[in-house]
Amino acid sequence: MACEVIVGSNGKALAIACSRNRVAACSVPECRRPHTKLCDFPIAGKASLGVPAGTCDAKLCDAHATSQAEGVDFCPAHHARSKLGKAAASTREVAP
Ligand SMILES: [Zn+2]
Ligand SMILES: [Zn+2]
Repeated sequence: MACEVIVGSNGKALAIACSRNRVAACSVPECRRPHTKLCDFPIAGKASLGVPAGTCDAKLCDAHATSQAEGVDFCPAHHARSKLGKAAASTREVAP
């Protein structure tokens, strides 16, 4: 993120302005579109490593987010896994 110090006429720093109009790009390689969604695939935590359970959170643009349900979107990799693993559906998933 590019930040810029705004200096007043007395030479003192007044504020630091950081450009926030740049949205992080989609996490799919080669895709440069800004992300609009995050992958909601549940990831099991690794207690021994201090990693809490959460979701994949991969950044996804509209084209790469696959809607699973209202407000639930998966990244391409997890969409494929969710289809393959439907028979053995488990609420726990081990992080890749
Ligand atoms: Zn994308
Ligand atoms: Zn994912």
